[in-house]
Amino acid sequence: MKITQVEAIHLRLPDVNERCDGSQETLVVKVHTDAGIVGVGEVDSSAHVAKAIIEAPVSHQICRGLALCVIGQDPFEIDRLIHRMYEGSIFFGRQGAAIQAISGIEIALWDILGKAVGQPVYKLLGGAFRKQFVAYASYLFGDTPEATEQSAVRLRDQGFRAVKFGWGPMGQSEALDLALVRAARRGLGDAVELMVDAGICWDAATAIRRARQFAEFNLTWLEEPLHPDDWDGYRRLCDSHPPMRIAAGEELCDVGEFDRLMDCGLDVVQVDVTRVSGLSRSKQIGWNSAKRRRLCVNHSYKTGINIAASLHFLAAIPNTHYFEYCVEQGALRQQLTRQRFPVTDGFISVPEEPGLGIELDEAIVERYRVA
Ligand code: MG
Repeated sequence: MKITQVEAIHLRLPDVNERCDGSQETLVVKVHTDAGIVGVGEVDSSAHVAKAIIEAPVSHQICRGLALCVIGQDPFEIDRLIHRMYEGSIFFGRQGAAIQAISGIEIALWDILGKAVGQPVYKLLGGAFRKQFVAYASYLFGDTPEATEQSAVRLRDQGFRAVKFGWGPMGQSEALDLALVRAARRGLGDAVELMVDAGICWDAATAIRRARQFAEFNLTWLEEPLHPDDWDGYRRLCDSHPPMRIAAGEELCDVGEFDRLMDCGLDVVQVDVTRVSGLSRSKQIGWNSAKRRRLCVNHSYKTGINIAASLHFLAAIPNTHYFEYCVEQGALRQQLTRQRFPVTDGFISVPEEPGLGIELDEAIVERYRVA
């Protein structure tokens, strides 16, 4: 089998704003083969930038668009093709958007492989340690504590066993930080788990203080309290014995950086399959974290493509039982795939169909396609 074409499809809602909702746009990748099998992947990045990285013409040997690195190649040879894309793009790549763009093609290769052999991707990744996860509702803090409490009540009433609030106005003042988390806990009651995503808003001293102040709200974890470059801050925070787990990782694209964050003492490693160059590297990070007895979870704030790929990834590692389940209501998050990934009694299940187990709604693709 040979790869014949790579399509990078930019989808965007009509009114994208600065609210920290990553599901307002996306880059869908389709990899075509001479066998007629088409694989689907997704990139979480600036869709405009990632599309250019995939489609760029050759400038010279180590400065090529990713599509040129894989066209004519065998889609089964996934590790070799990751290497070809990495080496072919090192003049502009090695980190950030180039690695994120590789994810879209790599995930599509796994989809092709699964469809070709008639097996779900989790089996090809080594088999499922579990097939159901606690789907924690992932949502942004409201503009006020009152709005946050209303969202918490609504999500509790929908049957979620765990809820995470993040970003929004967190970090503006001590009083507001405490009021937001207090409102979230009040709305959820004591029986629902609560995670807080601070949204990289504090320095280390403030994060250490907030972690202690948040103790009374019984958080499952405190996520991204610090800037992703603040390695020393993460070490100081983790060394301060906070009364909850510390989580981070969604800004990272490099396997070595996850190791470095775990060296700092991080408890929860958050891997986005559409940002770390795909499923192979996600699995590598997952197993590195398993060896260190850390919790590994997905980061997922995109479409059903990311959800499916993340489910296959998490199924294939032993050290998790949570699944980040974005509850934004935009059309790309809710309608791009025909599969809607329902949460039943608080749990989400891994697809069993060949490949990723998803089918795109092409009418949605056409409606929101901008390039
Ligand atoms: Mg986050």
